[in-house]
Amino acid sequence: MDNPQLRLIYPQTLERGDQKAALVALKEFSRFGIKFDTREAHKVDAHKDVRNGKFFTNAANSDARVVITPGDLDPAWTEIFVTKRIIGVGVTVRELSENIGRTLEPRIGVGRFARGALVSTAALGKLEHKLRLKALETALKHELGHVFIDSKVHCENGECIMKENRHLADFIEETVRKGLSFCRRCTGEILTNVAQISSNITA
Ligand SMILES: [Zn+2]
Ligand SMILES: [Zn+2]
Repeated sequence: MDNPQLRLIYPQTLERGDQKAALVALKEFSRFGIKFDTREAHKVDAHKDVRNGKFFTNAANSDARVVITPGDLDPAWTEIFVTKRIIGVGVTVRELSENIGRTLEPRIGVGRFARGALVSTAALGKLEHKLRLKALETALKHELGHVFIDSKVHCENGECIMKENRHLADFIEETVRKGLSFCRRCTGEILTNVAQISSNITA
């Protein structure tokens, strides 16, 4: 049985520091038995064998605001999407929004169970360099948490990286600066779900 693998898909224009910060987030999941690789989004094979891979390469390559619509990352997907071994982790340097009904909600990132995650560096705004890198790493870890924790609800533990932060300022002060990680319960969920996701992989 193969464990799922993560693939970081990023634009050519992503700064080296940002690339490294993103990799730190992906490495965090090696303790759950999940490996990763990386691809620049413009490479022809970047989306190959990735669950809904074109969505991630398009998002990373976009030169305009990226809008997530239902269907890009949601469970209405046909099974074919969740049987592939590679789970996409996109980074965009553009603003990111989610289409909720008729309104566009700005987002730092999104993550969906067994589907993938996407984070916007533009959404982090103007922060001091080191703090910005830490914020990118933390945002990616959080969204990857959603990929491996099958719940739309955030963690109620105030000391857990999976708690909800409604605004960027709260996220920076309450999660990034505190250097939070996954609580015991979330860690257990991830371990259980990696096994479940693995058992669905056929392609
Ligand atoms: Zn969240
Ligand atoms: Zn938690």
